[in-house]
Amino acid sequence: VTADDPPAESASAWLARTGYIAAGQGCARAWLFVSPHLDDAVLSCGALMEALAFEGRVCVATVFTEGGQMPWSVPSLRATARSGRSLADLFELRRNEDRAVLQAMSVEPFHLGFADGQFRALSTLGQGQPSLLRKLLARVPLYPTFRWDLARGRVAPPDRALVEFIRAELLQLVDRLSPSPSLVFAPLGVGSHVDHLLARDAAARLGLPTIYYSDFPYSEQSVPRRDFVEGRNLVPHLWLAGRLANAERVREYGSQLAGIFPDGRVPYRPEVYWAPATASATPA
Ligand SMILES: [Zn+2]
Repeated sequence: VTADDPPAESASAWLARTGYIAAGQGCARAWLFVSPHLDDAVLSCGALMEALAFEGRVCVATVFTEGGQMPWSVPSLRATARSGRSLADLFELRRNEDRAVLQAMSVEPFHLGFADGQFRALSTLGQGQPSLLRKLLARVPLYPTFRWDLARGRVAPPDRALVEFIRAELLQLVDRLSPSPSLVFAPLGVGSHVDHLLARDAAARLGLPTIYYSDFPYSEQSVPRRDFVEGRNLVPHLWLAGRLANAERVREYGSQLAGIFPDGRVPYRPEVYWAPATASATPA
């Protein structure tokens, strides 16, 4: 592939075909993308976001943007060893990278400030306990490993209340934005990363029309969960234009690139969006 696919239609016309933004319905040209981590929205939706930013207001709410204080979980040790920085410094760098990438796309970043799942601890169980026990629990990771814990799709009991907190933060943001977003893009949770599932479930409870996106590059290895897709009667819509240019945007997340794409190449794939079949208009 040497050149980007040219856009066959404008991004909003394409969106109209998913059934959610019909031109004559008076919907505001404002869209909210919910990103679990500081890179997911650009990895999975960057090309569409950049196209939409020419037509209206595009905001990205990134949920898990802090490192917390986990000293010893496996992903935590890997992340700090790879970057040679403290967790606090690493996440400051990541937030700055994210702001720079999104602003260059004319997209507005919002960081919600929740701790990344790699670094969340059992400490919430220790509330009301003696301080020594609280200190010990603060050192026990909720998800000690990536493969066996964080990417198993099982939300740890102390994390279950998080969905409501995230939803409340997202609602506050939606209320603050003017014009208010007419459509929310949420991760589908392909790959079953706990943080992606929490972000998805919080976004799904905002009471706004929601389109789900396939989580790239998890989608290279995993397929969407059938129960979720079938339960909501979701059908896929592909967005192709601008994927090569978006690969360059992805490369600007310098602190993450080697961890995500060890050979340095960003695979060329369509972006995949899932909307309810009942909402989707038949292509003209
Ligand atoms: Zn992620």
